[in-house]
Amino acid sequence: MDNLISKMVQETIELGAYGAGAVEIDKIVFDRGFRSLCESNACGNFDKCWTCPPDAGDIDDLINKAKSFDGAIVYQTVRSLEDSYDFEGMMEAGSLHNVLAEKISAAFASHNFAEVLHLGAGGCHVCEVCTKRQDEPCRYPERAMASLETYGVAVSQLAETAGLKYINGQNTVTYFGAYFYKK
Ligand code: SF4
Repeated sequence: MDNLISKMVQETIELGAYGAGAVEIDKIVFDRGFRSLCESNACGNFDKCWTCPPDAGDIDDLINKAKSFDGAIVYQTVRSLEDSYDFEGMMEAGSLHNVLAEKISAAFASHNFAEVLHLGAGGCHVCEVCTKRQDEPCRYPERAMASLETYGVAVSQLAETAGLKYINGQNTVTYFGAYFYKK
């Protein structure tokens, strides 16, 4: 791992990630089958968020785009829930994950990569309610973030490759993010 990449992993932890690691692009597993999961609306965001399918774009185009990067800094946030039905707690955890993601984007902006792609968890969490639901344009296109699943990333395998646990105990929720960079 070169110096800059190890520094970025360290920076991510200092900004508040529970864990972080670096992964080279050819070690990331992509699976276009995740699109069927999105289409089954398992998370309730299908066709309800500008950065989710179908608006996010064709799965093969998104996988090819992600594969054009050199590697990614992978990070996770872990929050406690009252129980496994604590939907409010999960939403709050999603917002807190997004707060960290925005801090990471701001901190890494000075690294001057040729191109970056920052992917998060379960749809965009920038606004409380996405304007897609009213069929109005995205409020903050420069801040909007798609999920790893939208780009076909196999998140459990990504976690393992980055040396991170996918599940972190009973009544907790773990969210992942990845900052893809092109040198
Ligand atoms: S920034 Fe707001 S309007 Fe745009 S995709 Fe995200 S949640 Fe939706």
